[in-house]
Amino acid sequence: MSNANLGMDVVCRVMFNMQQDYMSWVRSTSNGVTAAVPDFQRLINLVDTHRASCLAALPSSWYMVPGAPVPAGAAPPAGGPPAGGGPAQAGGGSGGGDSGGSGGAGGSNGSGRGAPVVNAAVDPVLKRRYDASGHTSIGSLLGGRSVTVPKRGGKDICLTWALRGSCNSGCKRADNHVRYSVTINRAIGTILNECGVPNPQP
Ligand SMILES: [Zn+2]
Repeated sequence: MSNANLGMDVVCRVMFNMQQDYMSWVRSTSNGVTAAVPDFQRLINLVDTHRASCLAALPSSWYMVPGAPVPAGAAPPAGGPPAGGGPAQAGGGSGGGDSGGSGGAGGSNGSGRGAPVVNAAVDPVLKRRYDASGHTSIGSLLGGRSVTVPKRGGKDICLTWALRGSCNSGCKRADNHVRYSVTINRAIGTILNECGVPNPQP
């Protein structure tokens, strides 16, 4: 981890701990419990004396935010560059004719280059189904099937974005790294059905 990332980690920890102290006070107050207004003196003392690293770390899922410090020993976010999200995901075969080249099927980010981007608006049901399927790439999920990838704005949506919950800024479908509509999510659910992924709530 670089010095800059370490520094940002400390900043985030301080802000997170202040926020939690404050929220705890808000909760007590709203429940009618009289509590002292937090003055963050303990936090300030820890920072002043170079012990900020003993402050609670951020919830681990927050470290998925692009560019955020990765906790020691943690794996990089899924779909991140360079090795994870690249050509291994390419594949499938779509009817969508507008994608030249190797990608196909809306599953791939083509180049694999770019910064990891996280889909904060991922549909939790779709992601759970994909995660539970055991597939480690969209190409593996599709297994060469010809599926109809829903379009948005005339372009295929990004299945990596929708199912893995993260992709790369260099993805050729990056224009469609957005929150998908209910209709699109339903169509993606249909693709999962077609690929034999169980649906816990049909
Ligand atoms: Zn993408």
